[in-house]
Amino acid sequence: MNEILDQIRAIVGADHVATGAAIHQDDTHDECLTVTPVRPAGVVRPGTTAEVAAVLRCCNEAGVTVTARGAGSGLSGACVGVPDGLVMAFDRMAEVIRIDVADQMAVVQPGITLAALDDALAPYDLVYPVEPGEPSATVGGTVATNAGGMRAVRYGVTRQHVVGLQMVLASGTVLRSGGRLAKLSTGYDLTQLVVGSEGTLALVTEVTIRLQPRPKARATILAPFADLPTLAAAIPAVTGSGVDPLMLEYLDVLSMTGVTQAAGIDLAVDPAVGTRTNAYLIVALQSRSSEHLQDDVELTGAILTNHGALDVYVLSPRAGADLVTARERAFFAARSAGADDIVDVVVPRSAMSDLLLEAASLGAASGSLVTGCGHAGDGNIHLSIFQPNSQRRQDLIHQIFRHALDAGGAISGEHGLGRAKRDAFLALADPNHLALLDQIKAVFDPRGILGPGVGPARDSRRAEAAPGVSAGTDVGPGGDAQRHDANRHLAGLAGATGEVAP
Ligand SMILES: Cc1cc2nc3c(=O)[nH]c(=O)nc-3n(C[C@H](O)[C@H](O)[C@H](O)COP(=O)(O)OP(=O)(O)OC[C@H]3O[C@@H](n4cnc5c(N)ncnc54)[C@H](O)[C@@H]3O)c2cc1C
Repeated sequence: MNEILDQIRAIVGADHVATGAAIHQDDTHDECLTVTPVRPAGVVRPGTTAEVAAVLRCCNEAGVTVTARGAGSGLSGACVGVPDGLVMAFDRMAEVIRIDVADQMAVVQPGITLAALDDALAPYDLVYPVEPGEPSATVGGTVATNAGGMRAVRYGVTRQHVVGLQMVLASGTVLRSGGRLAKLSTGYDLTQLVVGSEGTLALVTEVTIRLQPRPKARATILAPFADLPTLAAAIPAVTGSGVDPLMLEYLDVLSMTGVTQAAGIDLAVDPAVGTRTNAYLIVALQSRSSEHLQDDVELTGAILTNHGALDVYVLSPRAGADLVTARERAFFAARSAGADDIVDVVVPRSAMSDLLLEAASLGAASGSLVTGCGHAGDGNIHLSIFQPNSQRRQDLIHQIFRHALDAGGAISGEHGLGRAKRDAFLALADPNHLALLDQIKAVFDPRGILGPGVGPARDSRRAEAAPGVSAGTDVGPGGDAQRHDANRHLAGLAGATGEVAP
């Protein structure tokens, strides 16, 4: 490893390679609740695509793994490296390369944060509408996770906005896919294959994104409901009305209490309504003019009232902004309250209510507390699981996953599989699907050096040398035990279904 590190220092400069105690604690983890921080053998910070390519060439020849890292705001452990591999951080590649007003597109480097990109676009009255609730997230990280967030109900997820990439393959080959094009029908779409691939197929060094006009008029409505099924039934009525909401977020009453207390917000809901409320719907509306907006507010209020809302509050701009920010911080409120895991399942919107009821009853049966909030317009549910016993928690989560899959859903709607949900995916997925994913991975990365132990493919060589398995450089407690518990459980699952757990 020392020899490789010397070669890499010669490529990127000694100041941009950290090893041992010089590795910052921030580079050892993301925000995932269940993946143990790991100190990798080195953290490399390239400044150019040519440097990324040269480093990968070197690592590929030596069989050294590379885990890409954006801002480390991910919730699945996907940017956490392994003890005998390298982490490649992209914060030195954070420029806007061009903003094209006529095409409504921009070309940016992957390390730019969403906050910095928004600052750069504001003077042009343009917006990049992907907002995964964490403005420190980078464009590279959001591309690799296909991030969604609260505005996805209107604008779609990252995939809908990425039209071109420059990428570097594990071999060091640099290639481009797509471009500043509104449409493309020229063979396999490599751009879309790499979006959501969690740093396991190629490293992204340039991203071409679609932009939207920046609407100015915005309103926020809060509607309390007596129960989740009534709330869920109101959602298609809103979306089917022609109102095109910017956000449609639900919070159960415990989650709302947690986020408002954490943010110091008083919802000022009539106490007589508050005592009957078990779930809240937040609807954000946005329009090109205040007249249009007013029409939409009135229509939405009427629909919610007709569909069982206990009351409808149109918030002041300040109160609306504060509530949306508080909702964005729901993850931190759940963490402070002691949540042991966060589940990010997605189901068809019409199946959301059933899943929520089933999750609550499965939770009660296992002696766990399950609370939640989520992107109700997308059927994407974030459940906070409070169950300190690892085995019981895994059993519960697997039951929830099975229920979601049976309802036509998926394990993750936006956080990705990373390390945290990978084992569950491998145990529950169709073997033919897995086999094809393995082949795709092998074509892009034959030596399995990118993102070891991360994502959907059973990467060829290194996958099982996951954090905690190699000798002694974990920097946090618990990971080994959790991983082995999960593996035992999954072996049981495989036995029950006839699948072979990897
Ligand atoms: C409070 C909070 C709220 C959140 N809410 C949401 C939400 O509503 N919706 C949502 O989708 N997410 C949400 N997230 C998760 C997170 O913000 C996203 O997953 C984000 O996309 C991660 O970006 P990052 O730059 O932090 O990437 P990291 O966490 O550093 O890395 C994520 C993945 O990207 C890969 N990667 C990074 N850079 C590159 C590159 N240049 N080339 C290839 N691969 C790369 C990494 O290897 C890893 O697989 C939330 C997180 C927090 C903390």
